Amino acid sequence: MQFYSLNKQAPAVDFRTATINGQAPDKGLYFPEHIPFLRNDFINEINYYSKEEIALEVIAPYVGNTIPRNELQRIASETVAFDFPLVNINEQISSLELFHGPTLAFKDVGARFMSRCLGYFVQGNNQKVTVLVATSGDTGGAVANGFYGVDGVDVVILYPSGKVSPIQELQLTTLGKNVTALEVDGRFDDCQAMVKQAFADADLQKALFLTSANSINVARWLPQQFYYFYAWQQWQDKDNPPVICVPSGNFGNICAGILAYQSGLPVQHFIAATNANDIVPQYLQSGTYAAREAVATLSNAMDVGNPSNFVRILEIFKQEFASLKGKLHAASITDAQTKETLASVYREHQYLLDPHGAVGFLALEQYLAQNQGQKGYLLETAHPVKFPDAVEEVTGQKIKYPESVQGLLGLEKKSIKVAPTFAALKEYLLS
Ligand SMILES: *Cc1c(COP(=O)(O)O)cnc(C)c1O
Repeated sequence: MQFYSLNKQAPAVDFRTATINGQAPDKGLYFPEHIPFLRNDFINEINYYSKEEIALEVIAPYVGNTIPRNELQRIASETVAFDFPLVNINEQISSLELFHGPTLAFKDVGARFMSRCLGYFVQGNNQKVTVLVATSGDTGGAVANGFYGVDGVDVVILYPSGKVSPIQELQLTTLGKNVTALEVDGRFDDCQAMVKQAFADADLQKALFLTSANSINVARWLPQQFYYFYAWQQWQDKDNPPVICVPSGNFGNICAGILAYQSGLPVQHFIAATNANDIVPQYLQSGTYAAREAVATLSNAMDVGNPSNFVRILEIFKQEFASLKGKLHAASITDAQTKETLASVYREHQYLLDPHGAVGFLALEQYLAQNQGQKGYLLETAHPVKFPDAVEEVTGQKIKYPESVQGLLGLEKKSIKVAPTFAALKEYLLS
């Protein structure tokens, strides 16, 4: 399988090169030259397959011969080594819980897969790869954890001091080994600007093999298809496929779901749920795509003003606005509605959502009210404990830490404080 650049000004490459490059040299996103179609009996008999087998079946056509089958099998099985339960909230709505991984967010899946692929690809290199990431919280933890202990790869995470939640900070700063956390005395935008400049800097390019673990990387994007198939395994009413609602920021997660649908996964309809950053809902309504500065909301992992993966969704629908609208609905939910939904779902169904999941729940509920007889699920993209302020305020209850993070609480935070300047980052990287 070859991947071409959506900017069409760079050569097509295989999965290995697409993973190592991240972005094409012409700054375009990589896109598969064709979308594989899965066998009918795989879809119909999905309940007979294990999680690992499903992952392998879905990803193998994309990886091609760049990773041998037995290695890919190991990578796939390590990637999905936790649960993906589909839990009923009420008669119509279920929650696909994607927060049972090591950092309690769906990004664990993409990060674990990508890190292992990259680890495989750099085997035997005499130069180490340095993965450089700026994070506002969720991405960094998943990436750091995914790459933790992977040979040949060093990870440097930049995060804004005092601006990530306590659990997120522990996830970033307690790993050690090949993971270094730089605590930047500034905002997330500073971290992002520092990383951007690093990738453009000739001295650093010469001294280090730098790569990003950005969400546009094909090795992070493609494995996100897996759990849509796990949901289909658990879906009771196979004659009536689900409406799938995805809380969206950069639109990588929902784009993977749409790709799975193109490969044969039964789906009634997709809903992209956004917060006040409603660029895509506006686009679907008006036909005009207008990127703008992101505004801060309660569901801050979705505070994106120019969703990077949306161009891939357009490509899947061959740039045809009508066919896109035929399969994708989008809705924007306010912070006030998010809080109300968190509280009412907890009160009425004893189910605790996180702010991102709450955005998804309400968008789905609104859609189903207009489309009687259908049922669906939302992707619960993070555990509520990652966003304790919003959740505890609304429910009036302290959230219990899941066992998987209890262990973090006693660990010592290790970070290196740096000024919010590129010079400070460069000095650290060259030291
Ligand atoms: C990253 C993230 C999202 C948004 O996912 P995209 O793939 O960028 O659309 C939603 N919820 C949580 C908790 C996230 O961390």
